[in-house]
Amino acid sequence: MVVIRGATTIAVDEKEEIKRAVAELLEQIASCNGLNRDEFVSIVFSSTSDIHAYYPAKAAREAGFFSCSLFSAMEPDIEGGLKLCIRAMVFVEKNILPRHIYLRGAKILRRDLSSVYNVAIDGPAGSGKSTVANRLAADLNIVHLDTGAMYRACAVKVIDAGVDVEDEHAVVDILRAVKLDVEFIGGVQRTLVDGVDVSERIRQPHVSMAASTVSKHPTVRIHLAEKQREIAHKMSCVLDGRDIGTFVLPDADYKFFLTATPEVRARRRYDELVAKGHEIDFEALKEEIVRRDEQDTNRAVAPLKRADDAILIDTSEMSVEEVVSAIKSKMQERI
Ligand code: C5P
Repeated sequence: MVVIRGATTIAVDEKEEIKRAVAELLEQIASCNGLNRDEFVSIVFSSTSDIHAYYPAKAAREAGFFSCSLFSAMEPDIEGGLKLCIRAMVFVEKNILPRHIYLRGAKILRRDLSSVYNVAIDGPAGSGKSTVANRLAADLNIVHLDTGAMYRACAVKVIDAGVDVEDEHAVVDILRAVKLDVEFIGGVQRTLVDGVDVSERIRQPHVSMAASTVSKHPTVRIHLAEKQREIAHKMSCVLDGRDIGTFVLPDADYKFFLTATPEVRARRRYDELVAKGHEIDFEALKEEIVRRDEQDTNRAVAPLKRADDAILIDTSEMSVEEVVSAIKSKMQERI
């Protein structure tokens, strides 16, 4: 018999929210531990005293956990304790090394499980996520993992090989043969393809659209997401991307989603590229950003999407400092 711990928090004390949260927690416990429902022997829930709308045990039954015994209890109200929190202790009949699951901010209950924490910042091109992630990581003294750089590096290799970026088979063949690495030198990410540092090349304007096309191929996404998880599990980092909070790290400790109007986003990219000496047509750049958003939002696997539990920040009228400080204060509220 093995015991798996888990916890989650709910946004409001309502029946449907409790049912959703319990189903999500049990699904994650099952999938992250490779379990079937009939391998659950018993689940003991405890919820904080601010939860009255429904029994977690009943929610578990309704989520399809029929064959195990279920029990819910209420915890005493301890000052400073996490609010609206549901904890679970799951007994399973399988010889596994348990992976404990803490969702929606509940991980702070078990700092002892790991001192590693991850901040997910997702959003469309030009929403400011890369600059903000960089600044935030420096302030927190942790690493910034720019996941877009990995898709860009892959695109550079595909372009160099003269292969059509739309051709999934050919792209995957290249990806399988290539050695893609990220290194952090003095906290700054360098992206290497077959040992060659491509950190500057990947920023060339024509690489952006190619990266977006390469990134819609499911095998590419699965492969790169796996690499990103490996890094995130080893070290605390701020990850910026499109699918970090939804697909790469659905149990990230903190999740943010940045947006801004297309006009503002295009203007930021324009200023950035012009400062680097590129000659750019503003309207063409704006059109490319909108096309890229469309492609990123509509792809089948892990599209650009705000996670339900990500905090939305519209950065259109905010400075980088303002966004970083808004994120830090949201993080602080949860500690
Ligand atoms: O963020 P950046 O502009 O560098 O990303 C380049 C492209 O890589 C994006 O347009 C997107 O299609 C893809 N990408 C992704 N998932 C991520 C990061 C980037 O699909 N996590």
